[in-house]
Amino acid sequence: MTSRWILSSALVLALLVSGCGGGSSQERGPVSPENPIQVVATTSMIADLVRQVGGDHVAVNGLMGPGVDPHLYQASEGDVSAMAQADLIVYNGLHLEGKMVDIFEQMHQRGLNVHAVTAGIDEADLLASEDYSDSHDPHIWFDPALWQRATLMIGDVLANTDSLHAERYREAAATYAGELEDLFEWATGEMSRIPEGNRVLITSHDAFGYFGRAFDLEVRGLQGISTALEAGTGDVSGLAEYVAENRIPAMFVESSISPRGIEAVREAVQARGFDVQIGGTLFGDALDSPGTAADTYVGMVRSNVTTIVSGLSSPETSSQ
Ligand SMILES: [Zn+2]
Repeated sequence: MTSRWILSSALVLALLVSGCGGGSSQERGPVSPENPIQVVATTSMIADLVRQVGGDHVAVNGLMGPGVDPHLYQASEGDVSAMAQADLIVYNGLHLEGKMVDIFEQMHQRGLNVHAVTAGIDEADLLASEDYSDSHDPHIWFDPALWQRATLMIGDVLANTDSLHAERYREAAATYAGELEDLFEWATGEMSRIPEGNRVLITSHDAFGYFGRAFDLEVRGLQGISTALEAGTGDVSGLAEYVAENRIPAMFVESSISPRGIEAVREAVQARGFDVQIGGTLFGDALDSPGTAADTYVGMVRSNVTTIVSGLSSPETSSQ
């Protein structure tokens, strides 16, 4: 493990040195739709955010596609050289990209134009992480206020990268932040339809802590904040006990995580004489495939809210 890491660390450094990176903005010529800012983004939510704000002045290369788990994602050589040649690199931070932390550290050290969307967020606004005492819950895209702040931050980052069009990026960011405001107003109305006794969201892993805080739901994940630590049999039976006792009508699987864990909980609940439904698939750590309804952040939130409301709106403590 250690020797493999030393090798890959050296390789990363070599790739970063060989790319032009950071200082290339002067050589690249003025930004235009024909000559857009070359951006590399890690998650599909961040790629979408940069596209929404940058419009036709950005070309975004999103590293992590539909169904990809960012906690376990390992950068390929191609990813690293794409980052070394990009005008701008945007990642989530707070250890979401747990296996890429050292790469970002090296990029910061080399002075590349690299930004974490979570940088600059007040610690007081972040949820704690039960998995890592020194870190916070990285799933900030499910907090309406924090994602709006990330939007404005991306506006500033693009403005600093291409000062010629600074106004344009800041205006686009403000407009999109307004759209997010409308989205979350709609979501609040929808979520209020879930009956009091059903306001528990059970998912494959703890991606929905901010979502629960925003919409007044208790949240329980089978796995913790990171998927790097697998659920054990104790977690399965503990959660099953809770679901059966509280007669929770539905649990949800996630697009970037195998459904096996949640299915095992369902079987364990059934063994306790209660039938819990699988309420559908939520998009936690990745958007859906291009061309589907949840291929943008706005579509993702709409899809998740619709799935959760329909799964949890069945009569409270229905008898079987
Ligand atoms: Zn996650």
